[in-house]
Amino acid sequence: MSTPISKLLEETPEDQILDNTLRPKEWNNYIGQEKIKKNLRIIIEAAKKRKETPEHLLLYGNAGLGKTTLAYIIANEMGANIRVSSGPAIEKPGDLASILTNLSDGEILFLDEIHRLNHLIEEYLYPAMEDYKLNLVIGTGPSARTMEIKIPSFTLIGATTRIGLLTSPLRSRFGATFQIGFYELNDIEKIIQRSAKILKVIAEPAAIKIIARCSRSTPRVANRLLKRVRDYAQVEGKGIITKETAQKALKLLEIDQLGLEPGDRKILETIIKKFNGGPVGLQSLAAASSEEEDTILDIYEPYLMQIGFIERTPRGRMVTKLAHKHLGLKLKGIQNSLI
Ligand code: ADP
Repeated sequence: MSTPISKLLEETPEDQILDNTLRPKEWNNYIGQEKIKKNLRIIIEAAKKRKETPEHLLLYGNAGLGKTTLAYIIANEMGANIRVSSGPAIEKPGDLASILTNLSDGEILFLDEIHRLNHLIEEYLYPAMEDYKLNLVIGTGPSARTMEIKIPSFTLIGATTRIGLLTSPLRSRFGATFQIGFYELNDIEKIIQRSAKILKVIAEPAAIKIIARCSRSTPRVANRLLKRVRDYAQVEGKGIITKETAQKALKLLEIDQLGLEPGDRKILETIIKKFNGGPVGLQSLAAASSEEEDTILDIYEPYLMQIGFIERTPRGRMVTKLAHKHLGLKLKGIQNSLI
């Protein structure tokens, strides 16, 4: 029951099953992100009219905001098959060649964590994206020669949480790039309502509001919390998610009313207590809080910045007055250009 929320964001096989069960398959079930949906619909419709595959698309935004879901909806709308892989899974040029040569015309290739694609392999991807061909080097040394292989026309959908790590040659080969942002509270509420229906659990509107507020503006967290609150309601309550059961379950998970979990509080308190409120560099913060740099960057920091608890300055991270207030800590020392 005491799974920290950061673990809720990291996908386990059980979570993947939940993701798949709750994943919307059509536009009308994909809640929020109206502008992105509109733009993508136009790209898809235009491609369909031209009887071509849509241009390559790059989706970026935090984990759990719906990038994979969008890729599946695009494939569904195109009536196309989707193949899924990820940057770190493609270790050798041969791995990429095998994926690309096994595609059929019009298929979608979804590459998650595309920023982790090895740069050598990236070079092989360029002609594949531009001209649907692969230039493979056969042999080594003076007898090495390049062989050109034609591959089917396909649409690459790349997803990343770190757009800044993508090289510019790779970025420039995508026809369109979309940033998936955090969700509005009422959209998260709608997502929870929909998920509750699918999971066949009754949740009172007041309870949905509470869970939504703790969901870090992120659909995946909303679904994970709903599932854990449902478990609590089944064991400790009457199976119905009331306002009270939601509050009790979240308290047990040590999630506060803004959705912060112990890890977030540890980061904030480390900056306040060990670095006098900041500024502090990522490396020092990671060492002092015993968290991985990637975990801070991908999981904690985006939401803490979104709610105005951390600011990034050229000299490092600083905790804001708002965060002090939330934690019930007094401002001290010299910190505080951020008041
Ligand atoms: P990402 O690929 O960005 O990490 P996913 O697409 O896997 O995120 O989304 C995680 C889960 O959140 C999905 O299983 C889906 O149930 C839910 N979800 C994401 N976006 C939406 C949305 N716009 N509307 C409804 N549910 C969503």
